[in-house]
Amino acid sequence: MYISIKEIKSDINKLLYVVNNTTDRDCYKYAMCNINLLLDIYRNLTGEDYKIDIRRNLVLESKYCKDKSVEDTYIDEYLEDKKFNDIVFSKANSILYNYSEKKDIKEKDIKYEDFLDLLETFLVNYDSKIYAYYKYLSSKGYIDWFTYKNRSTNETNNIFLLNKRYILLDNDYDVEGLCTIVHEIGHAYAQNLVKDYNVSYNDCNTYYEFFSSFMERMMLFYLKGNRLYKSDVNNSDNKYLTQLKMYTDDLIKFENKSNETIRSNKGIISTSLIYFYGEYLALIKEYDYMHGQIETKNRINEFLKYRGSFSKEKELELLGVSRLDLLSGDKVQKLLLNK
Ligand SMILES: [Zn+2]
Repeated sequence: MYISIKEIKSDINKLLYVVNNTTDRDCYKYAMCNINLLLDIYRNLTGEDYKIDIRRNLVLESKYCKDKSVEDTYIDEYLEDKKFNDIVFSKANSILYNYSEKKDIKEKDIKYEDFLDLLETFLVNYDSKIYAYYKYLSSKGYIDWFTYKNRSTNETNNIFLLNKRYILLDNDYDVEGLCTIVHEIGHAYAQNLVKDYNVSYNDCNTYYEFFSSFMERMMLFYLKGNRLYKSDVNNSDNKYLTQLKMYTDDLIKFENKSNETIRSNKGIISTSLIYFYGEYLALIKEYDYMHGQIETKNRINEFLKYRGSFSKEKELELLGVSRLDLLSGDKVQKLLLNK
């Protein structure tokens, strides 16, 4: 275990102090939200619950209880532009049809030293700032490589009130594992760029999974370019596309459904929605990257810098993606033809 349990406990206690003493509604809300994240990390690392004595402030809670949940925000964004969204989903679904296959291949294990070496070389190559941030995270012990085996997913937890990010991993050292770690580093890096905690909380928008997915694509692109682990890279690539197709399958089911039905399925829809847009945009930007690396990186950095502060339209504009790019699916189609 790399993440210090002692530090997690001390972070929880720092935030408990905030919860028990603040009179500010937002501060209370964000501290509660961060404590819950830390309790999750504790449980995932140890397999046990950390018992705390939390005095809930019902007055402050009632002040924010009418706030929209993150899922409701996603659903509102989807419904506001439903026709457009539905065309994008069905177009993507037909493009991806030929590229998805359901087979689960066990990839070749990569030696731990080689795994780290590949990860670092990739990061240095892509962007020295991301590399530096990764070195910071790993030297501080904020990445756990061997998370408790009861976990089912990999995740990044953003403790924005303390300006900290914890990455929990539970995967093999193989090509999939490389994609996973760069995905999580992508989240941590993007979260670290957002300084204002209000914005940081609000950055849970439709494009939340974009940069992390883009890092995965870049990792595969890097391995392909260096002709490394060819068949496993191909496997991971297929897995990415198969999953993306699955999200579109889920989403197109709601094409003709009432808003009421949609709202009552907000869990599945919002998950599919953020992963679909994140991964689909990542493919569009991979196409752009192949035709102009510096320009594409600059665009993405602009997007990251202002994440959560603008409308969805403005964010797409910063990213250099037009509505037509999404509707036509041309770039994705061309990218996949060269696969
Ligand atoms: Zn993610």
